[in-house]
Amino acid sequence: MAGIKPEALFSLIPSVDKILSHPSIQELLNIYSPILVKHIITGTLNDLRDLIRKHRLVTEDLALDVVVDRIILMVEHRLAPKLCTLINATGIVVHTNLGRSPLSRKVAQRIFEAAISYSNLEYDLEKGKRGQRNAHLRSLMKELTGAEAVLAVNNNAAAVLLALGTLAKGKEVIVSRGELIEIGGSFRIPEVMAQSGAILKEVGATNRTHPRDYVKAINDNTALILKVHTSNYRIVGFTREITFEELVQIGQEHNLPTMMDLGSGCLVDLAPFGLPDEVTVQEVLSKGIDVVSFSGDKLLGGPQAGILAGKKELIERMATNPLARALRMDKLTLAGLEATLQEYAHAWDPSNSIPTLTMIRKTQDELMIDAEKIASSLESGLQERAQIFVEQGVGRVGGGALPMSDLVGPRVGIKPESFSAGRLEGALRQGHPPVITMVKEDCVLIDPRTLLENQAETIPELVIEAFKLVENSKSSCNDPGS
Ligand SMILES: *Cc1c(COP(=O)(O)O)cnc(C)c1O
Repeated sequence: MAGIKPEALFSLIPSVDKILSHPSIQELLNIYSPILVKHIITGTLNDLRDLIRKHRLVTEDLALDVVVDRIILMVEHRLAPKLCTLINATGIVVHTNLGRSPLSRKVAQRIFEAAISYSNLEYDLEKGKRGQRNAHLRSLMKELTGAEAVLAVNNNAAAVLLALGTLAKGKEVIVSRGELIEIGGSFRIPEVMAQSGAILKEVGATNRTHPRDYVKAINDNTALILKVHTSNYRIVGFTREITFEELVQIGQEHNLPTMMDLGSGCLVDLAPFGLPDEVTVQEVLSKGIDVVSFSGDKLLGGPQAGILAGKKELIERMATNPLARALRMDKLTLAGLEATLQEYAHAWDPSNSIPTLTMIRKTQDELMIDAEKIASSLESGLQERAQIFVEQGVGRVGGGALPMSDLVGPRVGIKPESFSAGRLEGALRQGHPPVITMVKEDCVLIDPRTLLENQAETIPELVIEAFKLVENSKSSCNDPGS
């Protein structure tokens, strides 16, 4: 390019000293860590050398001001916060990749207050001495679930690990083959079992496990019978699983504790919202199961947490296991979980104040108002650049909860006239804020169910921005959206 040999270009790269004394870089050094800025300067200069070798730089690119601008962009890009808020337009309420349950402002406020102050986290104000971290939650959770005792840890995976490691280390745990599940790639019952030191004793067949299969597997080394909520899949057809009653009876007859990993862990009956199949924590405990474990941030709608509830003797053994210290919940989560449980404890309907439940509860009529509002703004904003329609769709609770339960409701479809839906989806995903959508049959779908606060008003503008982004990149022949 421009007839200059690469060797000549190398000598034009500004020196680190020159760059460091540039006023804009001096300013940068006042804002950001000097070590990181210098690191990025060195990295940028290496990139420039690479580009020279690939014949992709011209003399002008090496002017001091141009190089400095490049460095400023790199610093801002690299050091900007990467965890950002976004709009979930997928209709999947407990979306594992998008942070599961959003909290209400009221709950978040309690976390904020616990964060900026000292608290009685492990201090008994009545006695004036050391208290227990879980004491705050215990009474509330006991009231809500009817459990004798409760222990909260970092997440449900930790809860299962702690339960197995405490009750069954070096001993056998009986589980149905139909319940050896994997959740989100990293939580697998057989692997958690191995980590805990417990020995997995699989029984039955994938689709059918009978009470007699459990009974046959019991021996002197059996420590626990575990039932696992199959969360993210269902076996349909010729199936048989053990009922809670049968499980409790076997446990009692053989003097063995029983446990249910409930996964989602719901405290309210979701049948009135069209989801009849989810058993509540209270129901499972009332059937006589000794220990249940469940997540804080799935259907409960609170912060990430794992809760163990059940018989006092068993829960106390878990609480005193040294592993419990490693898996303990931090004070911010504790503040958020307590605030969430208080919403359940009050007489008002928790689905009014817990966003996850509010979204699940949304009715066809409520959703239709939003869908039509979005559709009509898009029609006037995009005119003939896209076909806009409202169709009946099926959302999901998600997050390893209720995989087969449909959340039926309307959603807005967008079919761009001059480019693919995939490109629109990509542009929306890179927007400010990003909007996450689903693509089906070359249409982008926007499900109003998971839109929070005033997002139904802001989404049309973001879609129009995304159209501009794709249309402009098309006219200038580069192709970032695809
Ligand atoms: C989701 C889930 C887990 C893992 O819970 P986390 O809170 O994500 O750690 C464990 N068991 C079951 C049955 C689940 O559904």
